[in-house]
Amino acid sequence: MRLDAAARNEELFRTVNERIESVRQNVPASDPSMDFLCECDNVDYVEKVSLTLSEYESVRAVATHFIVLPEHTDPQLEHVVSANDRFAVVEKEGAAARDAEENDPRDNQP
Ligand SMILES: [Zn+2]
Repeated sequence: MRLDAAARNEELFRTVNERIESVRQNVPASDPSMDFLCECDNVDYVEKVSLTLSEYESVRAVATHFIVLPEHTDPQLEHVVSANDRFAVVEKEGAAARDAEENDPRDNQP
C-alpha cells in the first residue's frame, strides 16, 4: 500500500514538472514573463500581473511609477502613463508621489 502511494506521488510530481517545463519552453529564455503582484491600493485581495522582466525593469526605473491591473487604476491618486491588455503603468501624484520617492526600494538618487 505504501509503495503504491509513493509511486502515485512520484507520478504526480513528474506530471507537474512536465507541465512546468512545457510552460517554460513557451517563454523566450532571454525575456521570461513572470507573475508580479498588482501594486494598487486595494489591499483586500492580491492579484497577479504578468510582465516580462524588461517590462518590469523599465517601470521600476521610475520611483513614482507603479504596475497595476488595467481595471485597478485610480484617477484621483494617479494618472496612467501607459497601458496594454495585461497591465497599466500609473504615476502617483502629489503627496503619494513624494511618498513613493522617499520609499523607493531602489534608491537611485546620487
Ligand atoms: Zn489591484
